[in-house]
Amino acid sequence: MGIQQPGRIYSPFKAVEINAAICSGCNHCVEICPMDVFVANPSKGEPPLVFYPEECWFCGCCVEQCPLKKKKAIRLVIPLPMRVSVLKGNEG
Ligand code: SF4
Ligand code: SF4
Repeated sequence: MGIQQPGRIYSPFKAVEINAAICSGCNHCVEICPMDVFVANPSKGEPPLVFYPEECWFCGCCVEQCPLKKKKAIRLVIPLPMRVSVLKGNEG
């Protein structure tokens, strides 16, 4: 399943995770993301595709705008080095 784009190198970097069992496919996250990380799923009602995770800057807008955020339809997957940076207070 999903869009295959010839020549595209897929990043192991995740950034955002959508729970397909909960997501309604409303595409609010697709519309709100300032970095165009998502692509709407060609199958109506299916979860958006996280197509450009390396572009994510973790603003959190997609999670905030999700009508199913309380059910955890979408969550940020912050890379470990960034978490350490936050814990250290962004020193150096
Ligand atoms: S956290 Fe911000 S930049 Fe990252 S996918 Fe969500 S809306 Fe886009
Ligand atoms: S806003 Fe939430 S429910 Fe709507 S498509 Fe995105 S993850 Fe799914």
